[in-house]
Amino acid sequence: MAAPKVFSVRPGSKQEAIQQAQKSLGTNAMATLTADQLKTKPGEPKGVPETSELSYTCITEIDPEQVASIVVGLDRTIPRWKPGSVINYATYADGYPNQEDAIYAANALIEAADSWNAVDFGVQFNWVPNLEDAAFVLAYGKDKGSVLASAYFPNAEPLNTVWVYSFAFDKEPRVGRDGVTKFKNYEIMKNVFQHELGHVLGLRHEFAIEREGAGAVRLFSKDPNSVMSYLFPPEIQESDKKDLRAFYGLPQLVDFVPDN
Ligand SMILES: [Zn+2]
Repeated sequence: MAAPKVFSVRPGSKQEAIQQAQKSLGTNAMATLTADQLKTKPGEPKGVPETSELSYTCITEIDPEQVASIVVGLDRTIPRWKPGSVINYATYADGYPNQEDAIYAANALIEAADSWNAVDFGVQFNWVPNLEDAAFVLAYGKDKGSVLASAYFPNAEPLNTVWVYSFAFDKEPRVGRDGVTKFKNYEIMKNVFQHELGHVLGLRHEFAIEREGAGAVRLFSKDPNSVMSYLFPPEIQESDKKDLRAFYGLPQLVDFVPDN
């Protein structure tokens, strides 16, 4: 049986959050990767193939706990990290079919995080070895059909999880919808994490307004090639960089209630 999704007691501390997160994985005291383990890289992710139209399903936005609790539950907010924040993240060493997969996924996530860091918009991702110091952790979510990974939106939880699923490790050669682009899911994991970390930074899907509703508003430009579209493999575009800098440069909106 899967662990219940709604906890009767919300975690009040990082330690409680860690216990709950690990309980949901069906285990306790999972270790995170150390800096030395990360260096035993099984192989460089291969070059990124040309963008094709093959799409994949990202479930970050269809988990009602993720979207409804932020967009609706907090009453029409646009969640964002405080400008200047550092988002620490750890990566589990355990819970994968083997530790080579854990190290490969962790390195793909680090490369994706570094590519967002290079955008220089005022918020940084920072890998840490200890779960106690992390705002989120990368975990293996086993088989979820055609879903590759999922993430979360900015929130006040003491520990969030970015999930990577078995399909993301698939090494079958695939051809994009254009009939030309060849890739393997395993080789484009970094790109998948670029998309998921976009959610972590508060970005909705490019087509969210038209197809998903739930309080999405469009700021700045529309770009069908956005890393937040379902074009495959996803890749950070110049428009994504420009708009993210503008988003994190916006002053905070403050709603006042008229005292009638
Ligand atoms: Zn997504």
